[in-house]
Amino acid sequence: MQSLLRENRLFPPPADFAAKAHIQNLEQYESMYRKSVEEPEEFWAEAASELDWFEKWTTVLEGEMGSAKWFVGGKLNLSHNCVDRHALSNARDKVALLWEGEPGEVRKITYGELHVMVQQFANVLKGLGVGKGDRVAIYMGMCPELAIALLSCARIGAIHNVIFGGFASHALVDRINDSQCVAVLTQDVSYRRGGEVKLKAIVDEALGKCPTVKNVVVYQRSTVEGSPERKTPVSMVEGRDIWWHEAVATASAECPPEWMDSEDPLYILYTSGTTGKPKGLVHTTGGYSVGTYLTSKYIFDLQKDDVYFCTADIGWVTGHSYVVYGPLQNGTTVLMYEGAPNWPDCDRFWRIVDTHKVSVFYTAPTAIRAFIKWGDAYLAPYTLDSLRLLGTVGEPINPEAWMWYHTNIGKERCPIVDTWWQTETGAILIAPIPGAVGTKPGSATRPFFGIVPEVVTKEGEPVPKGQGGLLVIRKPWPSIARSIYGDPDRYKSAYFSEIPGSYFTGDGARQDEDGYFWLMGRVDDVINVSGHRLGSAEIESALVAHPKVAEAAVVGRPDEMKGQAIAAFVSLEEGHEASDALKQELRQWVAKEIGALARPDDLRFTPTLPKTRSGKIMRRLLRELATTGTVTGDTTTLEDFGVIAKLREGDE
Ligand code: ATP
Ligand code: MG
Repeated sequence: MQSLLRENRLFPPPADFAAKAHIQNLEQYESMYRKSVEEPEEFWAEAASELDWFEKWTTVLEGEMGSAKWFVGGKLNLSHNCVDRHALSNARDKVALLWEGEPGEVRKITYGELHVMVQQFANVLKGLGVGKGDRVAIYMGMCPELAIALLSCARIGAIHNVIFGGFASHALVDRINDSQCVAVLTQDVSYRRGGEVKLKAIVDEALGKCPTVKNVVVYQRSTVEGSPERKTPVSMVEGRDIWWHEAVATASAECPPEWMDSEDPLYILYTSGTTGKPKGLVHTTGGYSVGTYLTSKYIFDLQKDDVYFCTADIGWVTGHSYVVYGPLQNGTTVLMYEGAPNWPDCDRFWRIVDTHKVSVFYTAPTAIRAFIKWGDAYLAPYTLDSLRLLGTVGEPINPEAWMWYHTNIGKERCPIVDTWWQTETGAILIAPIPGAVGTKPGSATRPFFGIVPEVVTKEGEPVPKGQGGLLVIRKPWPSIARSIYGDPDRYKSAYFSEIPGSYFTGDGARQDEDGYFWLMGRVDDVINVSGHRLGSAEIESALVAHPKVAEAAVVGRPDEMKGQAIAAFVSLEEGHEASDALKQELRQWVAKEIGALARPDDLRFTPTLPKTRSGKIMRRLLRELATTGTVTGDTTTLEDFGVIAKLREGDE
């Protein structure tokens, strides 16, 4: 029985894990949590004091939800806290970035080396006239220079705008123009699935339509020792483009960090676009630093010897907060991998884990569902015995996938932290503290320190435990985005007008008797059948629990009789055939798992589901398809447009 509504398995923190953890039992978590909500200023001041400040704040928290300011008057620099703080200590020779290229090259960069590289590149930016407050677009693949690009911007106070390296040139144009970037940092090529991604050529194509860009710095990725010889020549525009390696060769290795005000902008990042057109969220320096530092420390329980591998691309917020800023502030060794999980074969991640002795592994449900689909044989050659903690983020994780992760990757030994958060929240808001809070498959469990989530009605009234509703956050927290770039009104209306006084997450949730939160999917994706509200996650998890189903997406379409009818899109595990009999069996299965009400009216088999490039199912496109038979909505962040065409064909 793996339906979300009836999930009642509880996995207490393993005793040997808890014994060495930062937070070792439930009492400790609860007393820290109590302090964090009853005396937030004391709590956050203590946390912030673990970082370096050039000037201390005068007030910890000023203002209300929607306009709150944190660590007011404080001066700091995030690149200093990520790099200098460790480079100038006895951690100088510790590896900061451990990189593996897709073709197999390995680079190890210590905190001391990173300190030099960041200062040199920061000076290159300064030499181009880039200064505090200027926007810089970064369009690169996963390589150490990408992290260095972010840190160098942060060092001089330039606002970075990272654009995922898988986007096409029109997405680049939109984002560069929306934030009026003065420079673009890119690279010649990056490698994915054995092929070249021609990043510089895509930048060239975009820049004809981007009048604000004055300079382009190009990192030569293809010359790393052991790389395949570059096939595509790169054209350099005289007076606009410079090579990274040439520029740093003559740059001074001394660049004192800019003293940033706590509320000075740090970066702009566009959301995944799962529900609509992406929004450029603005994060600021002080609160974001403290939030990503503290969540990394406690939720990933980072320890001195950890080798930490977050599989997210830096193009997403997960990469910003949990590849770069959070773990580096903690002085952690961060593993970065350039390419695809199934290149040259489907065991690539496990090979990386065993080779580099990865101890903390953080990935997304979409990846876990792919591992399951590929089959357990890919795990057989690996011990995975360096792992001690696993994490997941991005979508609700189906209990079936959680159990697979727990058994096959965690070997029933590693706690799983299911981390719920958003681009807007900057840092994780709901997740188990692994040495203290027992886990339940499919639940993000309990709030992080200082976070007061509540499940409410449309009117903002609390709903009783066990019932579904809207997830809101009642109190301000340090790392919340301060604005939508260029559109402060949309910021107010999207997040603070729906339920006055609260932050509106846009997600549906339910809280159980133990106070655990269960994310039920987007509010927009809630299906209303004859007056009953069903979360997409519930029905999908029931389908995925069927032994033949790998992945499922469920949407509502208008129905005269019932208000909404349920349309399910199902992809099968390897080796199973689609058939009418299976269709009926699956419809029955859902009825048995959840109730007759949840039985899908239509059920279609499909080899793949439409997803964003960060791997999230785009239900809005499926909803449109199920309703009108076609798709006209924004598809700029869709991974593969061919999926829609195939689904349409399947229709006829
Ligand atoms: P857009 O806001 O542009 O539609 P998006 O919401 O997918 O895109 P992100 O900020 O990357 O952009 O994703 C945050 C969302 O991802 C959350 O609101 C939630 O729906 C989902 N999510 C993230 N982590 C989890 C999790 N652990 N459990 C359930 N849902 C999650
Ligand atoms: Mg969102």
